[in-house]
Amino acid sequence: MRRERGAPVPVSQASILAAGRGRAQPRTARIGYGSAMSATFDVAVAGLGAMGAAAACHLARRGLRVVGFDRFSPPHDRGSSHGETRIIRVAYFEDPRYVPLVRRAWELWTALEHDAGERLLERTGGLMIGPPDGELVRGALASAKAHGLEHEALSPPASAARFPAHHLVPGDVAVWEPLAGVLRPEPCVEAHLEGARRAGAELHVDEPVLAWEPDGEGVRLRTARGDWLSVHASPMHGGTQHSTVLILEEPGPGELTSLILTSHGVTGAQARVVALVLRGYSTKQIARQLAISQYTIQEHLRAVFDKLGVRSRQELAAALMRPSH
Ligand SMILES: Cc1cc2nc3c(=O)[nH]c(=O)nc-3n(C[C@H](O)[C@H](O)[C@H](O)COP(=O)(O)OP(=O)(O)OC[C@H]3O[C@@H](n4cnc5c(N)ncnc54)[C@H](O)[C@@H]3O)c2cc1C
Repeated sequence: MRRERGAPVPVSQASILAAGRGRAQPRTARIGYGSAMSATFDVAVAGLGAMGAAAACHLARRGLRVVGFDRFSPPHDRGSSHGETRIIRVAYFEDPRYVPLVRRAWELWTALEHDAGERLLERTGGLMIGPPDGELVRGALASAKAHGLEHEALSPPASAARFPAHHLVPGDVAVWEPLAGVLRPEPCVEAHLEGARRAGAELHVDEPVLAWEPDGEGVRLRTARGDWLSVHASPMHGGTQHSTVLILEEPGPGELTSLILTSHGVTGAQARVVALVLRGYSTKQIARQLAISQYTIQEHLRAVFDKLGVRSRQELAAALMRPSH
């Protein structure tokens, strides 16, 4: 249950953060996350589209403990990775430095296709058409030459003979590269997610990441579905010197408020103001009760709003009564 020293700990809101050890008094430690409360992870991936799914898969295959989240259930049509096809080229006009990356990408897509046992990639060849001194043609030829890639520069008649469907406007030329093709993005995302799961990644779909924050040597992610748990630690009577009992339980309403405020860095003075806000006191009444100025109360409230990401007393009350993070 203890944090591992030295290990990077980006986690879902997940990890049990410092439960304490060998303390005489039970004490509330920190926050855990419902379904994965004892887990710590090396990497948390926020967003499981084309990029995140691939990252989760490859990192998990390298033996890292990976947790991933997506606000929807990928593959879906509310991001950039849906539809029938995506082009993959090698003679990258953008810059020759991309070429080794794309060569490697071809190897990896081919391997993924093999693992998935379904068609993900089709080699069709690619035709790039434009003015000879334009960015596309000039750049593709530069990449092809720099890396010795198979290609053909086609004059308009040669292009018309080979590819009659394409009518070049006067002055344009074409570059044909045989090692280009199309990927099927949605099955690709699925295959990477499946690969990630098989390699042990824990993937949470329909669970948006709300925020992340530094936490010791790692980060802590807050998602929309985390349940709050309190962790109490106390020494075990009659046990070995270092034995500790951990009790995990749902916190009561008052404790929950305190946990949430503490986890957001709300100070004691600010928490006292919040307590009175929750009891329906006006700024004037709080000032009188705490014997501080109304201006200070407003400063405290502004700081609390910032820390919890809320804009009004109503939102504050809702965040503390029905926490979504
Ligand atoms: C029309 C079009 C044509 C394209 N054509 C090509 C092409 O031919 N060749 C090519 O190489 N590239 C092409 N691209 C680019 C390529 O498709 C994208 O670069 C790629 O799909 C981006 O993947 P991604 O994982 O970054 O984004 P996405 O697939 O959008 O993934 C992001 C994921 O993050 C999730 N998310 C967002 N916010 C949160 C949150 N708070 N918590 C949890 N999850 C969250 C989303 O639900 C989504 O699943 C094209 C893009 C478009 C749109």
